[in-house]
Amino acid sequence: MAVRVIEVDDFDLVVFGGTGDLAHRKLLPALYHRDLDGQLPAGARIIVTSRREFTHDEYQAWAEGALGEHVKDLEPAAVKRFLARLTYIAIDVAAEAGWADLGKILNARPNVIRAFYLAVAPDFFGTICDGIGRHNLVTSKTRVVIEKPIGKDGKSAQALNETIGKVFKEHQIFRIDHYLGKETVQNLMALRFANALFEPLWNAAHIDHVQITVAESLGVGGRAGYYDTAGALRDMVQNHILQLLCLVAMEPPESMNADSVRDEKLKVLKALAPITPELAEKHIVRGQYKAGASDGGAVPGYLDELGRDDSLTETFVAIKAQIANWRWAGVPFYLRTGKRLATRVSEIVVQFRPIPHSIFGPEAGVISANRLIIRLQPDEGVKMQVMIKDPGPGGMRLRQVPLDMSFADAFKVRNPDAYERLIMDVIRGNQTLFMRRDEVDAAWAWVDPILEIWAAAKDQPKAYTSGTWGPSASIALIERDGRTWAEDGI
Ligand code: NAP
Repeated sequence: MAVRVIEVDDFDLVVFGGTGDLAHRKLLPALYHRDLDGQLPAGARIIVTSRREFTHDEYQAWAEGALGEHVKDLEPAAVKRFLARLTYIAIDVAAEAGWADLGKILNARPNVIRAFYLAVAPDFFGTICDGIGRHNLVTSKTRVVIEKPIGKDGKSAQALNETIGKVFKEHQIFRIDHYLGKETVQNLMALRFANALFEPLWNAAHIDHVQITVAESLGVGGRAGYYDTAGALRDMVQNHILQLLCLVAMEPPESMNADSVRDEKLKVLKALAPITPELAEKHIVRGQYKAGASDGGAVPGYLDELGRDDSLTETFVAIKAQIANWRWAGVPFYLRTGKRLATRVSEIVVQFRPIPHSIFGPEAGVISANRLIIRLQPDEGVKMQVMIKDPGPGGMRLRQVPLDMSFADAFKVRNPDAYERLIMDVIRGNQTLFMRRDEVDAAWAWVDPILEIWAAAKDQPKAYTSGTWGPSASIALIERDGRTWAEDGI
């Protein structure tokens, strides 16, 4: 099936942090793919900066290496065309040198869309916005992309948003959460709102509970220093997992207009039942991995990787969350994320209630309740578990089978990376899949009390062996409710 590609308007994209890991693994490959598919207009330029004193040719060679490493089946003519779009400028954002050169390049085309992508450590977000403002680089067609994390808590997030807000208006700020750019996540909206089938059942009367798992098999590795200041709650729950929860739980928005969607997500965040110290005790488990085995080999524990013998930082968290509104009252949302877990998987499981009465005798076997599984990674796809009759004349025996929609197989197209979609949305000025400031505030308002409870308790996270599904207390968390974590997946 051919993919429909609509060329975007002409633009200049400035990437701060153009020699970083994100640029190497994600941004350059994403932009190459969009160029390959004919989505970038002939004049579009990508201006890349960092402190490194690269010549133009040296940067092109570095970028070619990034494509070689992260893109399958490079097309030499397309690579050449893409590399010709790149311009490199050395700027230490904390100093003055280089900004004037950037201004000269940008001001040669004042009327095209201008996007600044801040692919640098969050400490620089304010400095860069300030530099962009001081050098008068903001035009009416300018946007800025902010990477996560946005703050360490509600207060620091507000301070950061204030700083960015001094230079950019809210409609120019694109707070990126790459989970929202995944095909499956957008398909969740298509499933819910482009089919009559699900929405009438999408409530407490028919859904027993929801599980959202973001499991990684890797440890913190070289990022231990940064990770120890964050932890799983800040790194994954405050942003990615709560955003997924919003898309599952929100009311149908009036339209796909950015503010309609974000208004509905905001209502969900505000309806999250606050976690009190008593609830935290029962409804939250936090863990820290110790040595074990992962991907077939022995791996060290978190503290060994950190090089310290004490840290209260959680590398795993499981939470039973509740949404206090009509649609979801009494439906638990079990959230869990962790590093060095048994496998790498991100998925949402919507568990429907059992049928009210069975007309089948015991010989038919167990009737399992329907389950909708939305898998984000690996192998994006959606699967619906339904009961059918076992084929053949052997009487009425029932079995559960998946109605499977693996997108890559179904459409025979390459599954685009989330960044491809999101960068093009930035150029198009479409904020639907980006977080609005009040969403960030509302997410922190729910997360902050949990951080405060942990800070006051000063207790050690529960140890779990690398390569397992986390502390046994997280199994107990759900099993106390007569449910289990779904580990059959797609
Ligand atoms: P990184 O590998 O450490 O890269 C940082 C970049 O910033 C480098 O290009 C570095 O280049 C540049 N830089 C550092 N100090 C600078 C200065 N004073 N002036 C100008 N440039 C400077 O970080 P990253 O992993 O790419 O992450 C970038 C951002 O994306 C972070 O906010 C991160 O949280 C977020 N993020 C990353 C990922 C990922 O997969 N990597 C995923 C989600 C979010 P020089 O040292 O050459 O100057």
